[in-house]
Amino acid sequence: MSAIDPTTGPCPCGRTDRRDKPIGYALCCGRYLDDFENTPAPDAESLMRSRYSAFVLQRAEYLLATWHASKRPASIEFEPGVKWLGLDIRSRSVLDADHAEVEFVARQRSSTGTATRLHERSRFVREGERWYYLEGDLQHPVA
Ligand SMILES: [Zn+2]
Repeated sequence: MSAIDPTTGPCPCGRTDRRDKPIGYALCCGRYLDDFENTPAPDAESLMRSRYSAFVLQRAEYLLATWHASKRPASIEFEPGVKWLGLDIRSRSVLDADHAEVEFVARQRSSTGTATRLHERSRFVREGERWYYLEGDLQHPVA
């Protein structure tokens, strides 16, 4: 089993550059996760990606800090043994300067080997310089 350190390897969120090469964690979500105070994610998609990476890295404090206060849970429990397999951003829409939606599919495998697709349309709101996750609607497969 190869131990890949997500903090030095490609970003867990899977973002690629213009030439389709994976962007490293430190240059991608790491900027926001590791310097929350000074480096807010600049747009809803970047925040969405950084929250996915925070799930992969089990960074509960980042997830809570980027959750809008009106919807923020008291705490976050990570399901043991879950392996996140990838993030796919399906669409992003900017509704106005302070509201945006991102639709994504995140894939995971549970400790018992069950694969799950989480398909969600998430709503984000900006307050000052910072974007927050507000809430999401799970998208159920049609067939
Ligand atoms: Zn990233």
